[in-house]
Amino acid sequence: MNTRKQINLITLGCSKNVVDSEKLMARLRRGGYTLLHDSDEMSAQIVIINTCGFITEAKEESVNTILTFAEAKLRGDIEKLFVFGCLSERYRDDLRREIDEVDEFFGVNSMEDILASLGVPPAQAPVGERLLTTSGHYAYLKISEGCNRRCSYCAIPLIRGKHVSTPVEELVSEAKLLAGKGVKELMVVAQDTTFYGMDIYGERRLAALLNALSEVDGVEWIRLHYAYPAQFPDNVIDALRNNSKLCRYLDIPFQHVSDAVLKQMRRGVSRRQTCELIDKLRRRAPGIALRTTLMVGHPGEDEAAFAELMDFVREVKFDRLGVFTYSEEEGTYGAKHLKDALTQEEKQRRADALMKLQADISASLNHAKTGKTFRVVLDRTEGDYYVGRTEFDSPEVDGEVLITSPNPLRSGSFYNIKITSADEFDLYGEVEGA
Ligand code: SF4
Repeated sequence: MNTRKQINLITLGCSKNVVDSEKLMARLRRGGYTLLHDSDEMSAQIVIINTCGFITEAKEESVNTILTFAEAKLRGDIEKLFVFGCLSERYRDDLRREIDEVDEFFGVNSMEDILASLGVPPAQAPVGERLLTTSGHYAYLKISEGCNRRCSYCAIPLIRGKHVSTPVEELVSEAKLLAGKGVKELMVVAQDTTFYGMDIYGERRLAALLNALSEVDGVEWIRLHYAYPAQFPDNVIDALRNNSKLCRYLDIPFQHVSDAVLKQMRRGVSRRQTCELIDKLRRRAPGIALRTTLMVGHPGEDEAAFAELMDFVREVKFDRLGVFTYSEEEGTYGAKHLKDALTQEEKQRRADALMKLQADISASLNHAKTGKTFRVVLDRTEGDYYVGRTEFDSPEVDGEVLITSPNPLRSGSFYNIKITSADEFDLYGEVEGA
């Protein structure tokens, strides 16, 4: 195969998929290919799609993307089409039967197979080498693969398998490589970050890992995502309070608060434990911003349970909130044992009601920041604004800070920004003392 050919790698799904794509792209480039990422152009001879198979919408997006490039291949616009990732892992045989324009389907953890199919010999690449697809000053760091939990609605353990932690030394080497490229902010991600180390060290080692990452020269901010509420390690709370490189930010999906629904979801945590953890986080890490994800319409969520969830959101006032509607996923406990009784309209009505409540909460939390000054990392320029984020904003999912400045500002640099106004999503400000 002529290695000078160009590859367009399309990444769908979550930040863990982004990391997988970046590692594959680095190896393909070492193999002599030139790379495009998420390009709509049909200039590349070879297209590789990293798919998502999490929920119905994500699966539909993955199938539609495959079909788009299958048609391009039929038209002769591209020569080769390869598909890997979660959807392919889960439905490989069906997809192979239905879309024969695809040259090969691979599962997850299939980098070496894809490289072999593209004639790239095994190479001694530095541990964690990545071709970054995020803007150069922030990157995701995937600390483990898979999940040992069995939440009723979730197919991820069926797709990604058991929890496998990456050793601390390898993650520190990867962080050093990233910092060497100018990365200053690391988003720590996994299916379940709080379980980190239980498999390879026999104990939870997330706090030790976060502190080790904070020793890496050049890394200024470390942000913790995908924490699990049950058995939340106290030493992680201490690290969030004491380690100035750890953003006072925590993404911790609670999914629900009703004991009856949490039981049906098999989350292994109760309403009381959930509320005690939130209280402990806010007491022992003052000023921490909490992002959570909630699911509505799960079997067993009657009107009373939904009202309880609305009250929970009204009382807790999360800084960031995402809402999913329950979708029955093949092979999960929910699909096998629970009745998906609510209509999609009713699920959507509940999701909209929660998001409307959150919009008011977010607006009041943002307005309370007016007049204050925050350290902001600059991500890009957009129209008349420089756009950045405080330590309380994760890229691509949270609000931003829109900055006006008479002097040019540099992406990837930090500035002290005085907030002059706000809306429900974003803050507006200017460089302090400018
Ligand atoms: S913790 Fe639950 S929701 Fe998250 S990946 Fe594991 S099984 Fe899925």
